[in-house]
Amino acid sequence: MDEIQLHKAAEVLRRSKYTIAFTGAGISVESGIPPFRGKNGIWNKYDPATLELGFFYENPLESWNVIKQLFYDFFGNAESNTAHQVLAEMEEKGLLKSVITQNIDNLHQQAGSKVVHEFHGNSQKMVCLQCRTYYIPVDIDLDNLPPRCAKCDGLIKPDFIFFGEGIPPDAYQKSVEAASLAEVVVVIGSTGEVMPAAQIPYHAKQHGATIIEVNPELSNFTNSVTDIFLEGKATEIMGKLKDELFKV
Ligand code: NAD
Repeated sequence: MDEIQLHKAAEVLRRSKYTIAFTGAGISVESGIPPFRGKNGIWNKYDPATLELGFFYENPLESWNVIKQLFYDFFGNAESNTAHQVLAEMEEKGLLKSVITQNIDNLHQQAGSKVVHEFHGNSQKMVCLQCRTYYIPVDIDLDNLPPRCAKCDGLIKPDFIFFGEGIPPDAYQKSVEAASLAEVVVVIGSTGEVMPAAQIPYHAKQHGATIIEVNPELSNFTNSVTDIFLEGKATEIMGKLKDELFKV
């Protein structure tokens, strides 16, 4: 890890009056949740078709069997890590306005972040597709699939977006607004391949923001919009950035 780049990033963050974070699956890898893509990616083991909206409507049991394993049995007990926690501390100290996340794991909130724009929804909420009643996972019997609404017997779906579904309008609008205002964006653990989420750092850059990127690998952002590349794992880099940022 390049110490000069780290000092530079801390300096830029100290001066900024409007910093936001943009996070992808990489920030949660060290919490034990694998990303979708790459060598240990989820899509090497599971068929992404199970998360297509059309497939879900036609084959809810088959879809739910995968969803249960992936997002509830497997992810269910994950805990936030240093990187999530540093972002929450930065917000508390007035150094971060909001987090825009592509993740659906609720770990930013678990770490204490208050303003989180969930671009792809949240697995810790479920919704009846018929009467729109919302549930939390503990109130749903996942041993009996597919789950049905207690009120109307409608099909229940996790409240994260499937392939073929639109971005929740409120999260989209607030994310674009924050990106327009941002002086600095800290991008952590995203390939930049998932659209339209990946447009957020580009949008911020067009409005004059400085982009700091944290990733052990190069991404689509690195050679296009990134100004300061901090190469390494999210917990290591964010831990060091915190020491540098809060040391004065
Ligand atoms: P991605 O799966 O496409 O890419 C993950 C990125 O994280 C890569 O650039 C990789 O180099 C980086 N990475 C890997 N380990 C890291 C570490 N320890 N620290 C920092 N970075 C690390 O992720 P994406 O671009 O976010 O897109 C996938 C989509 O899948 C997202 O939109 C998200 O909704 C969803 N997803 C969410 C979760 C979750 O909620 N935790 C998990 C998997 C996928």
